[in-house]
Amino acid sequence: MPNNFSILYIVATPIGNLEDITDRARRVLAQVDLIAAEDTRHTRRLLAHFGIKAKLWSYHDHNEAQVVEHLLASLSRGRDVALVSDAGTPLISDPGFVLVRAARQRGFQVIPVPGSNAAICALSASGLPCDRFLFLGFPPRTSARRRAWLTTLITEPGTLVFYESGNRAAMSLADMSAVLGAGRRAVLARELTKHFETFIDAPLGVLAERLRDDPEQRLGELVILVEGSRQTDGTVREQEEERVLTILSDTLPLKQAAALAARITGGNRNRLYRCALEWREDHCSE
Ligand code: SAM
Repeated sequence: MPNNFSILYIVATPIGNLEDITDRARRVLAQVDLIAAEDTRHTRRLLAHFGIKAKLWSYHDHNEAQVVEHLLASLSRGRDVALVSDAGTPLISDPGFVLVRAARQRGFQVIPVPGSNAAICALSASGLPCDRFLFLGFPPRTSARRRAWLTTLITEPGTLVFYESGNRAAMSLADMSAVLGAGRRAVLARELTKHFETFIDAPLGVLAERLRDDPEQRLGELVILVEGSRQTDGTVREQEEERVLTILSDTLPLKQAAALAARITGGNRNRLYRCALEWREDHCSE
């Protein structure tokens, strides 16, 4: 029978500058019975800096299944557990999801202790709209998969927020420029909260060239932010209607293609027919 009074704390740690640790994070890390950490050596150094002695347990993507059972057993015995990652907020492009879900399912309290997060830190100072944004984590590693994935983001109106490693950043930016458009405004936020913190604000095409030509800008850790699509909902809908029309008009008479495209997409049949006629004359003005 689980001890429902034990608590799993999800504790954020600094992404660079150690002054960013919160008083609450320090207090919780000092008082829990066990700390699950991605890299125990790294976390031990962090804790030593704050004079905290703790029992550490290694928790990462490759041992998640066994360690989750061990941590749940500790919670069942009435022990409080904290989860930390190497930097920033656990679970955000970091391990912990399996543990949090299992702890909640077994009825334990899961309490967040908020603090640093690279995506929010970058976004807040980027000058790009923050009212709507989409956090995407790390892009796929190969260019073909990355381009296909980016294609699904072309019409996303919110600011796009990516994590990337320094050595892949130039290639990712080149693909973003090719797929999302070289003229889109973007920001590279590098080494946040650290000595060499840098923000570069430039169109995607310029940023991609800058990263390609300047190895210094590829050093350290970085967040890439890209302005969302400026297309209105109306334009996006019409583009989708016309995409379907193009496919159907390859094989069907224009009138039938327009009628079917209108049925599939909910678009206006007359507009689509006019569009198809104009295409036939090699002009689609709408
Ligand atoms: N959980 C972390 C968080 O809350 O931000 C993110 C962990 S993820 C494995 C590591 C990535 O976060 C890096 O590759 C980089 O994209 C971003 N990142 C972490 N620290 C950063 C920093 N100081 N400056 C810029 N980006 C950083």
